Amino acid sequence: MSTARVLLVTGGSRGIGASVCRLAAAAGWQVAVNYVSNIEAADAVVADIRAAGGSALAVQGDVGSEPGLASIFAAVDGAFGRLDGLVNNAGIVALPQRVDEISAERLERMFAVNVIGSIRCAQEAVRRMSTRHGGRGGAIVNLSSMAAILGAAGQYVDYAASKGAIESFTVGLSREVAAEGIRVNLVRPGVIETDIHAAGGLPDRAREMAPLIPMQRPGTADEVAHSIVYLLSDAASYVTGAALNVSGGR
Ligand code: NAP
Repeated sequence: MSTARVLLVTGGSRGIGASVCRLAAAAGWQVAVNYVSNIEAADAVVADIRAAGGSALAVQGDVGSEPGLASIFAAVDGAFGRLDGLVNNAGIVALPQRVDEISAERLERMFAVNVIGSIRCAQEAVRRMSTRHGGRGGAIVNLSSMAAILGAAGQYVDYAASKGAIESFTVGLSREVAAEGIRVNLVRPGVIETDIHAAGGLPDRAREMAPLIPMQRPGTADEVAHSIVYLLSDAASYVTGAALNVSGGR
């Protein structure tokens, strides 16, 4: 079994997560590429990494469910036998709605995936990485959003609130495990060109938002992923509890 460090990227099959998988593998990480339903996309990321000489495995599992979480970590443990990094990237939006229109079911799913899923993955990672539990330390990067600051009024305030929860969680967890070899940071992407906008019923959102962004363009998944891979790396060895805007100035 390789001694290279192992990274789990939730939602690693598409968008920002897929870019993180490819860039982290190029930086020497072995990568567990989590996906929930798009096995073709996950397999394509794994194939790209292997073709470049890296090590990767596709790992199915819904981070918004306990059985999904159990199967993700069982697969990582079985294939790699170690964990050194986690990127809590899996996240969902929903169709534009006002707060007074949002259903209880939508709220429950939004928070199950974006908040509870991220916290549960971080728990499992800490149990494996903390020196308190006999681990070697590690790094966690959580995906927030500029929506946590801006609020996403008229679009998805529930999504923004879920990212606000991730922000508080990042601060608290970073302080809790700082003396146990684990760094915990977050990135706040702005408007990034990925499939998430179509999933939220606004396929042209990234292009349409461009005039509102000081840099006058949406960002790319790679531009976010570079910041995430930096925060995972030893180059960020004294950085914890930090929030990095990757938003073109907005
Ligand atoms: P995306 O293109 O929609 O990709 C979502 C990824 O998450 C896919 O790999 C998908 O897997 C996976 N996923 C969705 N639900 C999951 C679940 N329940 N369990 C496990 N995996 C799941 O998203 P993205 O735009 O790259 O966003 C990534 C993160 O950045 C999210 O947390 C998002 O909130 C945040 N963010 C994005 C933007 C933006 O403008 N794009 C801005 C701010 C923040 P499948 O391929 O199997 O469906």
